[in-house]
Amino acid sequence: MEFEPVIGLEIHAQLKTKTKIFCACSTAFGAPPNTHTCPVCLGMPGVLPVLNKKVVDYTLRMALATHCDIRPQSRFARKNYFYPDLPKGYQISQYELPIARDGYVDVEVNGSTHRIGITRIHMEEDAGKLGHDPHRPISRVDFNRTGVPLIEIVSEPDIRTPEAAGAYLRQLRAIVRYLGICDGNLEEGSFRCDANVSIRPEQTETFGTRTELKNLNSFKHVEKALQYEIDRQTEVLLDGGEVRQETRLWDPHKNRTHSMRGKEEAHDYRYFPDPDLLPLVIDADWIERVKTRLPELPADKKQRFIADYGLPSYDADILTSDRDLAEYFEACLQDFNQPKAVSNWIMGSLLGLLKAAGKSIEQAPISASDLAELLKLVDDGTISGKIAKSVFDEMAQSDKSARQIVAEQGLVQISDSSAIDDIVSKILAANPAEVQAYKSGKTKLLGFFVGQVMRETRGQANPKMVNEILVKKLAG
Ligand SMILES: [Zn+2]
Repeated sequence: MEFEPVIGLEIHAQLKTKTKIFCACSTAFGAPPNTHTCPVCLGMPGVLPVLNKKVVDYTLRMALATHCDIRPQSRFARKNYFYPDLPKGYQISQYELPIARDGYVDVEVNGSTHRIGITRIHMEEDAGKLGHDPHRPISRVDFNRTGVPLIEIVSEPDIRTPEAAGAYLRQLRAIVRYLGICDGNLEEGSFRCDANVSIRPEQTETFGTRTELKNLNSFKHVEKALQYEIDRQTEVLLDGGEVRQETRLWDPHKNRTHSMRGKEEAHDYRYFPDPDLLPLVIDADWIERVKTRLPELPADKKQRFIADYGLPSYDADILTSDRDLAEYFEACLQDFNQPKAVSNWIMGSLLGLLKAAGKSIEQAPISASDLAELLKLVDDGTISGKIAKSVFDEMAQSDKSARQIVAEQGLVQISDSSAIDDIVSKILAANPAEVQAYKSGKTKLLGFFVGQVMRETRGQANPKMVNEILVKKLAG
């Protein structure tokens, strides 16, 4: 029997506001423990939360970017549970009446487009952070993160493969980064993902029993954990067993999931509307104001790059995956308007360089206009493509421009036919046996001669001219 996976994702994105959701404490990361706290976020008796308008603004941006219906009225509720990192004994979250519902995003997997529904987006506060001492039986709690604003984005169970889950997650991450509302860092936990997964016999409608996967803190882990879980559930069913409804943790070291808690231990959060917070009313003007300030989103930008610059979908996908990268590309085009050549250099050389150095595009050691200058030198024949690569590497190491490096190191391409002629004659004279072999039909030796000329000229001879002159002389 063949099974079909059914996957839904719940994503928590930490919003980049300066202050917390219900008080004026800073959200800055990395401060000494418990220095960004006040009576409100510490949950002291008698305090009143005040909603941060920027949090609503950011959430509206996300809701509009994902085609959601924005509710004119939504509410905050208390989600009650006990844990030492939650000083109030409840988390303020939206429950029955979230701010946004019924949206979607389109993702591309292996060349075909899938529409993935978004059930809801709601706002909530983060909890604190509990740290366990590895050497002594004590734990410490840091309330700096308590009250930091989050949005939770819940997808419909529309995802059918681990690859599509990965694509959806990447797409949402690109959107929050384009919108400037979250830095999208999975490793540091500002963008977190839980997954619900079940399987059902193909061609059937009823959902199977699902498990919830936690601790998925990289794109790779999400896809691996889902595949593991699909395989595990398939094996259970084929053995005649039943999948247990439970929460499972992904163990990235052992590449497997293990049970964390079963359904019988599932929480009853006793939600009720928070009496300290008024219903949130959003009028059409507010929505319109946010809408007019939305940037071009990754999917639109990708289509524009394909239509306007004639780029392949693959290139457009990579270049628009990050807003700063897309801007870098377009800045290059300002000075050197050959989209495919620029794309090749960015995807091949620049991204490779950044990856090796662990840097982001904002930290690129070569500016867009400097890269454009290098490409112009190749285009006008001043240097060869091969030399350009070494000039590029040199630019990354120094503050020098392409023109400076080419001038200082005498790298200008040799395009003087009499000079190349002389070198070719010299090479042919030095290799009489190969010349004989070439003339008796081993034409593959042309590559050998080209290589010799290039070595003699330290790669500076114009390759097209070298080829032409070689072929002419060898025919003579
Ligand atoms: Zn506070």
